[in-house]
Amino acid sequence: MDNSESVRVAVNIRPLITTELLHGCTDCITVVPGEPQVHIGSHAFTYDYVYGGAGSPSSAIFDDCVAPLVDALFHGYNATVLAYGQTGSGKTYTMGTNYTGEGSNGGIIPKVMETMFKRVEATKHSTEILIRVSFIEIFKEEVFDLLDSNSATLSKAEGAPFSKPTAPGRLPIQIRETVNGGITLAGVTEAEVRTKEEMASYLSRGSLSRATGSTNMNSQSSRSHAIFTITLEQKKIASCPNGVNDDISDDILCAKLHLVDLAGSERAKRTGADGMRFKEGIHINKGLLALGNVISALGDEKKRKEGGHVPYRDSKLTRLLQASCVSPADTNAEETLNTLKYANRAR
Ligand code: ADP
Ligand code: MG
Repeated sequence: MDNSESVRVAVNIRPLITTELLHGCTDCITVVPGEPQVHIGSHAFTYDYVYGGAGSPSSAIFDDCVAPLVDALFHGYNATVLAYGQTGSGKTYTMGTNYTGEGSNGGIIPKVMETMFKRVEATKHSTEILIRVSFIEIFKEEVFDLLDSNSATLSKAEGAPFSKPTAPGRLPIQIRETVNGGITLAGVTEAEVRTKEEMASYLSRGSLSRATGSTNMNSQSSRSHAIFTITLEQKKIASCPNGVNDDISDDILCAKLHLVDLAGSERAKRTGADGMRFKEGIHINKGLLALGNVISALGDEKKRKEGGHVPYRDSKLTRLLQASCVSPADTNAEETLNTLKYANRAR
């Protein structure tokens, strides 16, 4: 992938929802027609893409921002899609991390699945393909496996006398560094999937597990990052002259696509116009702060060319995403200046 485009930012402005209309809310963001530019009050911001406003088809985000990453995945490139915005801005809706099966709102992840399996179908005669998915959640700097069917009952069934899981019944998993500097999650479920339907079933299983993993569902899911990761392994099948298919090449192309529904950005925000104090009781999300720093380091062309320091190690989130060139299509419908400013750091 072209280095100069290692970070791309899209802003998605969702329509006002019923409760907002009932409260008399009005749109405070205007989109400059034909330009990827938004105005809020006297401020103007320019991004790579802006969606929302009149006449913006919902599939455009996928086509412009995510389809090229799926294509790159088949060419062996890692990539990450991040949804950033305050709670209620539409991150989960846009990513599709609340997937409940056929008929539920599309979202980016279901479209990724569809596109991938079409391609697998089209190339299956020449390429051996292995696809695996994992689905994890980072909550208070601990990583949980959303696909682990045992973990939900573990502490109850076995009493789990020596562990103190953060959320009832869940045991955190450890991040390990491999000898070649890679990052792995010890014992995380990596489910092999052969069809779109199988992949969808893991997405909906994990979505459900995220929603029910805590007694205080709203506060936890808005404070956690959910990461759906697709690993694609490809091996060319070479045809021998005698017509028998044989592997003459051992080259395996392996790449990962991370699809991330981030914690609500209000957790990273200072309160008060003077920004002097953090509001009590609000957990400042380490992942979001570290991510902001990583993105601005990656977006700084000069720094990058000089091989400058990118602070990946500052949080679990950025460590896990480190190998992927952090190429976010940031889809949010955030109405506050702070989000637009945060997104603006990437440029
Ligand atoms: P978040 O995950 O950022 O907290 P949600 O994805 O849960 O936000 O969205 C909040 C509400 O807004 C939900 O009721 C959702 O259905 C609605 N919503 C979000 N995006 C859109 C959209 N593009 N069009 C219509 N409704 C939307
Ligand atoms: Mg959400």
